[in-house]
Amino acid sequence: MSGSVMAGCLCGEIRFSVADLPLMQVLCHCTDCQIISGAAYYCAYLVPLDTVSLQQGEPARYDVVADSGRRNSRRFCSSCGSRLWAELDSGVASVNGRCLDDLDHFQPSHNHLIGSAQSWCQINRDLEEI
Ligand SMILES: [Zn+2]
Ligand SMILES: [Zn+2]
Repeated sequence: MSGSVMAGCLCGEIRFSVADLPLMQVLCHCTDCQIISGAAYYCAYLVPLDTVSLQQGEPARYDVVADSGRRNSRRFCSSCGSRLWAELDSGVASVNGRCLDDLDHFQPSHNHLIGSAQSWCQINRDLEEI
């Protein structure tokens, strides 16, 4: 039986747990993720949405329609601004892999949308592309 791992925002106001066995661990190079994360790509730890369990605090939300046309409800901490997870139409949560208490738990398995990657971004070609 699978368990869960703990995660939280930078200031500690929001605490939540998620499945310890992710569906996929994706480096997302899409433009939205670059803007939101301020980094070359976003570390997306994908789990079934029903495994995300809020333990403390109340995340703010921002709903967008992604380039794919799918609805994407982004959750973040209204105090420190940390991105926590996004709820996708498909019943999947894209959790910020850098919010996990154990930073080493996130181990990327896939690259996503490398066509949007910046020219200066070094891409790990060992990862599968989706
Ligand atoms: Zn916070
Ligand atoms: Zn993205």
